[in-house]
Amino acid sequence: MTQAASVVSAKDLCLTYQANDAPVHALSNVNLDVRKGDFVSFIGPSGCGKTTFLRVIADLEKKTSGDITVNGMTPEEARKARAYGYVFQAPALYPWRAIDKNIALPLEIMNYPAEERQKRIAEALDLVGLTGFEKKFPWQLSGGMQQRASIARALAFDADLLLMDEPFGALDEIVRDHLNEELLKLWARTNKTICFVTHSIPEAVYLSTKIVVMSPRPGRVTDIIDSPLPRERPLDIRETPEFLEIAHRVRDGLRAGHSYEH
Ligand code: ADP
Ligand code: MG
Repeated sequence: MTQAASVVSAKDLCLTYQANDAPVHALSNVNLDVRKGDFVSFIGPSGCGKTTFLRVIADLEKKTSGDITVNGMTPEEARKARAYGYVFQAPALYPWRAIDKNIALPLEIMNYPAEERQKRIAEALDLVGLTGFEKKFPWQLSGGMQQRASIARALAFDADLLLMDEPFGALDEIVRDHLNEELLKLWARTNKTICFVTHSIPEAVYLSTKIVVMSPRPGRVTDIIDSPLPRERPLDIRETPEFLEIAHRVRDGLRAGHSYEH
């Protein structure tokens, strides 16, 4: 049997921030294998190290100990090879740039020729359903459309790995449902590997092939659930017993990891 290639592999990964007063153990012995084509959600309360884990993958933060590889390389090598696109938590669009120029910015920094930039911008906008909005400014778009534009910017490199940090956290539920559906379609069409941070149990269960449940102080993985749901998922799959069973297991994992000390 051939197994899909490992995109992210973490072994006993630890990261301790050296804060002024006391060290913060943001990641403690994390073991995880993300395979090509997986949709992996990270769920857990604030401060359990979700963002830190994405930042280590992206080489924005250095591990303290243990091992991590991205496409079989060190995170630094992977970053230099442009292995990933990153969608940040807040819509990080520049207000003075039109949508196409926002998407162009990282491509400009990487010295893509103008013609190639145009091609990639058009493709990325098409993938997120924003064709026709290239000359709008961020403030002219709804919150959901702004987040789609942020996703388009992350897609423009055409990296196989997409890192998404609570991309829909600030949106209302109806918009979020819609974008969840769209994201699954995009994932199916592009065959990307996605690492997705969320606070929402239904969102994690609806989107993921694998759910990583985390708990804080120290940040660690308390459960990894391989979803038995089919890859193609209409929204009403959320009413099925299979779905509810996984949601229940996630909730149990979150409860077990939570100390209720505060
Ligand atoms: P999450 O995304 O799950 O909310 P984070 O990864 O942002 O969690 O943070 C994990 C822990 O590390 C938290 O306790 C947070 O306060 C702490 N932390 C995050 N970044 C830093 C930093 N640069 N310096 C010190 N502590 C940090
Ligand atoms: Mg975070």
